[in-house]
Parts: sequence; structure tokens; C-alpha cells
Amino acid sequence: MAARRVVIVGGGTAGWMTAAALTKLLPGRCAVHLIESDAIGIVGVGEATLPHIRAFNEKLGIAEADFMAATRATFKLGIEFRDWGRIGDTYIHPFGTFGPGGGEVDFHQYWLRLKQQGMAVPDLDRFSMACTMARMNRFALPTSDPNQLRGSFGYAYQFDATLFGPYLRRIAEQMGAKRTEGRIVAVDRDGGSGNIEAVRLESGERIEGDLFVDCSGFVSLLLGKALAEPFQDWSKWLPADRAVAMPCRTEGAVSPFTGAIAMPAGWRWRIPLQHRTGNGYIYASAFTTDDDAAQALTEAVEGEPIASPRVLRFLAGRRARSWVHNCVGVGLASGFLEPLESTSIYLIQAAITALLELFPDGEISPIDRDEFNRLIDLEYDRIRDFLILHYHATERAGTPFWDYVRTMQIPDSLAEKLELFRRRGRVVKYREGVFLDASWIAVYLGQRVIPDGHDMRADAPAAESLIAGMRKLSTDIEGIAAGMEDHAAYLRRYCPMKEDA
Ligand SMILES: Cc1cc2nc3c(=O)[nH]c(=O)nc-3n(C[C@H](O)[C@H](O)[C@H](O)COP(=O)(O)OP(=O)(O)OC[C@H]3O[C@@H](n4cnc5c(N)ncnc54)[C@H](O)[C@@H]3O)c2cc1C
Repeated sequence: MAARRVVIVGGGTAGWMTAAALTKLLPGRCAVHLIESDAIGIVGVGEATLPHIRAFNEKLGIAEADFMAATRATFKLGIEFRDWGRIGDTYIHPFGTFGPGGGEVDFHQYWLRLKQQGMAVPDLDRFSMACTMARMNRFALPTSDPNQLRGSFGYAYQFDATLFGPYLRRIAEQMGAKRTEGRIVAVDRDGGSGNIEAVRLESGERIEGDLFVDCSGFVSLLLGKALAEPFQDWSKWLPADRAVAMPCRTEGAVSPFTGAIAMPAGWRWRIPLQHRTGNGYIYASAFTTDDDAAQALTEAVEGEPIASPRVLRFLAGRRARSWVHNCVGVGLASGFLEPLESTSIYLIQAAITALLELFPDGEISPIDRDEFNRLIDLEYDRIRDFLILHYHATERAGTPFWDYVRTMQIPDSLAEKLELFRRRGRVVKYREGVFLDASWIAVYLGQRVIPDGHDMRADAPAAESLIAGMRKLSTDIEGIAAGMEDHAAYLRRYCPMKEDA
């Protein structure tokens, strides 16, 4: 079969991730042509990731230390949430497990049982390697054995979003991807099939393709505009629709975690990189103004600002289908869920993985297309519920924004999950997708969703032996973390940033 002509519209993180993956993993099967407009530019935020990105980089043959140096990256062991359940509350959503596996029931069930029996046991996060390392500002790469404490955590990266695309561009171009700079002004469709035939540029150039990947960002040039795929608006559950971003110099420790601090009309992020700290306030414009949000952020950031506040607008939700005719939407062109759990780049990766698995070997099959859309729906719906949980499970009262999210009607799918957890700490298990048990447990307990009971099988062991085992475990975890290097020192040794990046 002749190489299939794939046209990628957009050269942001989504565009270059797609180009690098297709050229590297389908060599000879497709010819990749990416179009981007320097005048329009990229969204340029998106600094925190999930551990899955490591598998993506590995498949592309990316050497970790080189990539981290080039993107001025730091390690991320999880997210620290402050002031969410109540003002003054703090918890970490870690990458990794709570306690060891291998018991008759999940570790948190034994812990719940002891708590419910009035026993003095340490907080659950004392049984997480990632939480303990994060709190102590320590880092070491995990070992490959997940049954050992030193292998019981995962990690992701925090990097400069403007440097990731160019890094991938080098890989894609080395593998044969072609790039054209210019603004697309028209899209030609086949009158019969409805398929996209070509895009036309301001310069007059016409670029034809068999498969189009829409990575054009919020404008959704192909999927939203040309193909008019409807947008499912989820703002009634996720009312934040703006962000004001403002980087600053790093003050104090370079923490190996992302900060998510609740604010009067949303929350603000704090993301330490090697050369600066990213900050932004995600807020709902129905509850505050741009000026007030910028003012609140300016007052809250810890270091000296190195740029003026920049406002971005968005809407929570997604296109009803991500693959329509011969066009696949990837990245912001297919949907957006706010960055509370750093999921956008993960969603790009999930779409690319599904596209690789279902890449057309001839004519596009409706069965493959439906399967792609099913997988993407699943990812979006699960993440949506997980994000809503953060807002809804709160005792904060007295500010209009928090009163709204605390009392709003939530999707049935989330209401059922919450009920199950409240009854006896049961977490709905997934076979596919992101955010497994430990993530849900961290947020439930961190935001004061306390179960009434526990799994009865947790009653079998004697309380004394459980308590002794737990004490030893938390002491071991603390000892291992204390023996690790300071995070900033680790970065300086392992992947010092490139000045010319
Ligand atoms: C406030 C905020 C914070 C975020 N934080 C995170 C985070 O912490 N973690 C995370 O994973 N994600 C985060 N994201 C999401 C992340 O930024 C995006 O998922 C990521 O940057 C991908 O963007 P994109 O490539 O889809 O779009 P863009 O970066 O917008 O790229 C669009 C591309 O399309 C091109 N284009 C558009 N129109 C045309 C045209 N007519 N002709 C030619 N080219 C065109 C542009 O030039 C550009 O190259 C955040 C997003 C926002 C808004």
C-alpha cells in the first residue's frame, strides 16, 4: 500500500506529539505533513503531567535526562491539595500505592477498620512512599520491583510547555515529517462522502491528505468548524472557564510535586521548574472578574513575577465524537478538562495510542472509528467525574463559588461512586483508563468523604499485629525517604537544564 498521507493541523504539544509518534512507530506506513501558524502560536501552558508520559517517551526512544534537561523539567510525585475540604486542610494525591499489596483486601481497608475501632493509627499518607518523599522534598528513581517500598511509587514531570513541542519536532523531522508554516484559511470537503480532501493556506497552497488530525487547539478548525461536530458543554459541573497565568522566580525549595491551592472562585496551580515556578489561577468568570483574579494571584505567588498576568479562556467539555469522517481530533481541538489533575497531555497521549492501534490499513472502517470514540469517551467521562469530585466533596461554605459546587447536582456516575465509598470504602475498579484506586482514595479521604464501614474481610487479622505492622511500615518509609537526595540536588546531578534550550 502506498504511504497514507496524514495531514496534522497544528504544531502545539498535540501536533508534535502526534507527528513524532506516527513517524517513529509507523515508519513507511504514512507520510506526515504538519501545518502550523507562527502568527497564531500555541497555547503555551501545560506544565504538569501524569506518569503515563514516561511510556510515551520511552516508545519514542527519548533519553530521560536529555529530555528533562532540554525542557528544564523537574520530577513530580503527585499533587498537593490545600484548602479544598476545609480551609487549612492539606493532602497529597500521590503517584503510587498506599501500603503494600498482597493482602486479602486493599490496604486502606485494614486502616479504615482500625480507625473505625478507635485505634491510634498514623494518617494514610504515611503509608505512601510518594507522599512521604514529596513532603520531605526528596527524590530517587524507583526500582523496578513494585513489591518493594523503593519501587512502590511512580513519577511524572513538570516541564516548560513551550520547549516540549520543539523537542518532539526534532524527532519527527528526523523521522521524515514535513512541516509547512502558514495559516489555513479554508477546508475542502468531498461533496459525496463528506470527507476532508484538503486544506488551503493563505499563501494559496493546497495540501491534500487521506487522514487529517486536528490539533488546532481551542479553535477546532476541522472537527468543530469544518465538520461542525457538536460540543458537549460540561460547565454546569466544572464552571471554571478562565485562567490567569503568571510565572515567577522560585523561592525556597524546588518541590517534587504540583501545588493546587483552593481560591475563592476556583484554585491556583504552583509548578516548580528548574528555571522558574509556573503559577496560574483557574476561576469561574460567573464568580469573579479577570482583574480580581489577577490581583488575587499576584498577592498569592511566593516569588518575584517574571511576566505580566496573561488571561486564557476555555470551556469544559468535549466534541461529541473525536473521530468523524477522515478527521481525528487530538488535544484541545477535541475537548478540554481543566488542569486540576494535569490530564490534558495524558488525553493527547490516549488519543495517539488509540489512533496507532486503530490506524487505517486501507479504507477507514466505521468499526475502528467507533472503537476510537468509545475509548476517548471513556477517558473523558472518568476524568470529568474525578475532577467534579474535588469541587463537590467540600465543607467550604459562605463563598458563592464553593456554595454552588458543594450543592450542585452531580452526574449519576459520580453519585454512585461516592455512595459506594461512603458505605464501606469501596472504590469502583477500572479495566482501562486513568486514575486507579489510590487516586480516588486520596481525594475521598483528603476531602473528608469518610466511609461508614469497611470490607468485613479486613476484620480477620488481630488488631495488635496490624498496628505493629503499620507502625513498622511508616517508620521504614520515612527512613528510606530520609536517605534519599534532596530533589533540587538530584536534578542538578541528573539533568541540569540546558541554558540554550
Ligand atoms: C490554563 C491552562 C493550563 C493547562 N495546564 C495543563 C497542565 O498542567 N497539564 C496538561 O497536561 N495540560 C495542561 N493544559 C492543556 C495543554 O496546554 C494542552 O493540552 C496542550 O498544550 C495541547 O494544546 P494543543 O496542541 O491542542 O493546542 P495549541 O497549543 O493551541 O496548538 C494549536 C496549534 O494549531 C495551530 N493553528 C490554529 N489555527 C490554525 C490555522 N488557522 N492555521 C494554521 N495553524 C493553526 C496553532 O498555530 C498551533 O500550532 C492547560 C491548558 C490551559 C488552558
